[in-house]
Amino acid sequence: MKEFAYERPTDVRDALIAADGGGRYLGGGTNLVDLMKEGVEAPTRLVDVRRLPLAGVSEAPDGGLVIGATTTNSDLAAHPEVRRRYPALSQAVLAGASGQLRNMATVGGNLLQRTRCAYFATQVCNKRVPGTGCPAIAGEHHNHAILGWTRSCVATHPSDMAVAMLAFDAVVRYETLDGPGEIPLADFYPPVGDTPHRETALPPGALITAVALPGSAVSPRSRYRKVRERASYAFATVSVAAGLDLDAGSVRIALGGVASRPWRARTAEAFLLEAPLTPEAFRAAADAELAAAEPLPGNGYKVRLAGNLIETVLKELQP
Ligand code: SF4
Repeated sequence: MKEFAYERPTDVRDALIAADGGGRYLGGGTNLVDLMKEGVEAPTRLVDVRRLPLAGVSEAPDGGLVIGATTTNSDLAAHPEVRRRYPALSQAVLAGASGQLRNMATVGGNLLQRTRCAYFATQVCNKRVPGTGCPAIAGEHHNHAILGWTRSCVATHPSDMAVAMLAFDAVVRYETLDGPGEIPLADFYPPVGDTPHRETALPPGALITAVALPGSAVSPRSRYRKVRERASYAFATVSVAAGLDLDAGSVRIALGGVASRPWRARTAEAFLLEAPLTPEAFRAAADAELAAAEPLPGNGYKVRLAGNLIETVLKELQP
């Protein structure tokens, strides 16, 4: 590992100043430090954000919740109002990593974690250095993307938490030296296009301060399910976060493990707005969403798996 400077500010503005000019924010370090050890990341300055007053979950005026960026994954998953009003979010967080990692990992860091594509960790590719190619397309890609990918990169986003947040229309709040800003999570991760190295829409130097979850009629009746290659401590092969508002007949669905970013299943949601909430309609909605899938030779199984998982979760949400 290369030498780096390390600072632990207690004030957001001090953190922004410390990171200005190329510093990196350090939360729990559960991804960034690994990547530094592997030589994928080599920041010259780390700005530890864990002493900033950004931890905790609070009520929002619209009936939602505001989750501070340095809230640990464990505290988020265990929060009684998260469990009561956004159960799929608590389930998603608990489906990720291990207990020890969740005790360290933060909400802001979770959103910024990088793909677990094995090539990315071990060799230069388009995501690390533009124009160097994507060995996964012709190589090992059984757990790679089926939706929204390009020849530049076929990696998936690893977060479980972000999938549930996307289903509930979360908004990412941040601070910069020029003032605060916010980005809907739906726009936070740009399409992969031909720039897979550009992973978020955050301005340079921005510090994530919170994630706002709007009050929602679909979130209390919600569920997260994740299929993975072992029972714990594994990233999603496919995951589904879904919520159901029986009064309005509306549904929210987001998928994980299928694209470079958490994938909002808007085609399936639109289909179900016009259909009765029956198992047959759930299947048809899943098929409509996955009609856009473009699997590679080694990951076509994910299309059927994602369809089955959407149908299963929606059935489980019915009375
Ligand atoms: Fe790199 Fe993306 Fe290709 Fe993986 S899928 S090797 S991260 S360019």
